[in-house]
Amino acid sequence: MSLFEENSLTPWQEGPFAHLSQQLAQDQLPHSILVLGEDGVGRDDFCQFVAQWMLCNAPDKGQGYCGQCKSCQLFEAGTHPDYHLLQIEEGKTQIAISQVRELIEHMQESAHQAGWKLANITDIHALNASSFNALLKTLEEPQENTLLLLQAEQLQGVPATIKSRAQILKVGVTNTSMTREWLKQRHDFFDEEMETALQLFPTAPYKVEAFVENGEAFKSGEFIFDYADVITATQPPMDIAQRWQEELENCVFWCQLMFHDVLLLQQGGKENDIQLQKQHKALAEIASTVNAKGVTLLLNKIIEIQRLIKLKSPANLMASWQSFLIYSAQIAIKYKKLES
Ligand SMILES: [Zn+2]
Repeated sequence: MSLFEENSLTPWQEGPFAHLSQQLAQDQLPHSILVLGEDGVGRDDFCQFVAQWMLCNAPDKGQGYCGQCKSCQLFEAGTHPDYHLLQIEEGKTQIAISQVRELIEHMQESAHQAGWKLANITDIHALNASSFNALLKTLEEPQENTLLLLQAEQLQGVPATIKSRAQILKVGVTNTSMTREWLKQRHDFFDEEMETALQLFPTAPYKVEAFVENGEAFKSGEFIFDYADVITATQPPMDIAQRWQEELENCVFWCQLMFHDVLLLQQGGKENDIQLQKQHKALAEIASTVNAKGVTLLLNKIIEIQRLIKLKSPANLMASWQSFLIYSAQIAIKYKKLES
């Protein structure tokens, strides 16, 4: 269920929305806003909410859009002439320059509905250098009553020219308890699986939900048993790399939890102390095969891959994933745990 359908904001989106609402009321809204928020906080839902609210003919200033008017109907049908969504097209890895040019043309026309004109760029990292340059012109010479929403997961990698021209608005969850409270309100259960997912994505509530609902928790549990087989040299690393490449991002998260648990077991922790209790058998096997130094090296490697995921570098990511599995098998030999 998206926010969009619910016509309401989540607790962590209310603050940023109130800020925009106040700016609009005081006629101080900038022409471009860089919306920063990690995946899984409903960043795009938030931007769509803002867009529909600004285009709405009968908005409730502090609350949102009406959902009934002509403008809301057009928006919900995806045909509002004054709203331009720019996202990566199917099968592409970048936003094409032609898409950006089209957007700029639209932004320079006068509004069809005599109100605001909005553009929403779902991932600023998907723009290449020439697209950026084209976009900069729009930022430098904005038209009246236009708003450009630029989305990014993080500030890192956003060109300074954009940062200096757009207002930065953060949408995010600051602590685990906020995520937990929100999940409890939406679900009548809060089980072990959800708790594990919460540890994986403490500040990305929608990821926690998807993780549990899609049964990913179960699948990733299997991954850990496969990984233990790599460590004990019972399955070839490349087989495991391939088998799990579609789930790579989840597996990387799971590896982090896994290595923390393994280190805990090696320091005398018991089954009840660890996160991944269902995978205890596999974890114990890893803990008794590789020594603490080896596990720490593997954990460092996984943190590096995590960084690649954040940078959205798919080609490097796949190669790193494969080499991580091979590296794991090598570490298991080189840092073999000696019987004490
Ligand atoms: Zn409306």
